[in-house]
Amino acid sequence: MHRYLIMEETIHVIGHKNPDTDSICSAIGYAFLRNALGDDEVRPARAGNLNSETRHVLERFSLPEPDLITSATGLRLILVDHNEVAQALDDIRHGTVLEVWEHHRIGDLQIPSPITFHCEPVGATATLIAEQFFLNDIEPPPPIAGALLAAILSDTLVLASPTTSNKDRRMAPRLAALAGVDVAEFGAELMAARGDIATRSARDLVEADFKAFNFSGNHVGIAQVEVPDARPLAARRAELLEAMRRVKAEQNLRLVILIGTDITRKGSHLWAVGEGLDVVEHAFKCSSGEEGVFLEGCMSRKKQIVPVLETAFAGAALANT
Ligand code: MN
Ligand code: MN
Repeated sequence: MHRYLIMEETIHVIGHKNPDTDSICSAIGYAFLRNALGDDEVRPARAGNLNSETRHVLERFSLPEPDLITSATGLRLILVDHNEVAQALDDIRHGTVLEVWEHHRIGDLQIPSPITFHCEPVGATATLIAEQFFLNDIEPPPPIAGALLAAILSDTLVLASPTTSNKDRRMAPRLAALAGVDVAEFGAELMAARGDIATRSARDLVEADFKAFNFSGNHVGIAQVEVPDARPLAARRAELLEAMRRVKAEQNLRLVILIGTDITRKGSHLWAVGEGLDVVEHAFKCSSGEEGVFLEGCMSRKKQIVPVLETAFAGAALANT
C-alpha cells in the first residue's frame, strides 16, 4: 500500500479524533479534488485509528490509509467534519487552520485570519465535498465517489437519520452511479461492516464514536453506538456504565453519556454517568438512573442530543449565577 508523500509545504486535510467514515473519506475526497484542481500540496490525513467500517471502505475501493497525525504544531491544516477544540488534535491552536468544511454546530475554535468556513446542516461533510466536485465540473473517479457515498450513508444511517437533507438525497445516487454500486445494497454492506457488537469490548463500544463537548464550561463526553437492534447493547448496560465511568475519570470529564441508537426502532437509549445528571433528566424529561431511558424518534447526537444539552447546561449555568 503506498503512502502519501509529505512535503514541507504540505497542507493536511484532517477530520476529528476517533475518526469515522465521514472524517476519513471527506479528507480523502477533498484532497483529491484539490489535487485535481492543481493544488498538489494538499494531502489527506487522519487523527486516529480507523474503525472497522472505514477500513472496509478503504479496502473495497483500494484507497490508501491517510497518514496519522497526532500533533498540529507547525502544520497547515484544512479541517473537515469538526470545528470544536475538544474534537480536534490536542494542540490545534499551534497549527494553522486554512479552511473548514463542516456540518456540525459552530464550535469554539478561534482562527485569527480570514478563512474559508463552509458549514451547512446536511447529513455528512462528504455531501458538501461531492457538491464541490460537481460545481468544479470534476467527476470523482469510482473509488472517490464510492468513499464519499460511504461517508454519506454512514453518517445518515443509509439516508434514514433525521439529519438527512435533500442535498444528501441528491448526491447519494449520483455518487452511486459513478461508483457502480446500489445505494441500498452498499448501505447494508456498510452497516454489516460495523461488526457484531457481541464481539466488541464495552470499552471499544464507548470509545469508538466518542466526542467531547464544552457546554457552558461543563466538559461532557457523548458516545454513540448505532446498531440495527439495540437489545444486546441494553443487556450489557452494567458493563457499559463501568466503561463510561473509567473514560470519565481518565479524560477528567464531568459527565459521560452513551447514546445506543436502534436503527430499526428509530430511537435511542440514553445512559449517563457522572455529575449533572439532574440537568440531563430535566433536558430529556426522563430519569437517568442505571436503567437509562429510551428516546423515541431520537437518532442524531448532533441534531437531537447536543443542542438540548447545550441549552440545558446554559440554563443551569444561568440559574447558578
Ligand atoms: Mn464525524
Ligand atoms: Mn460527519
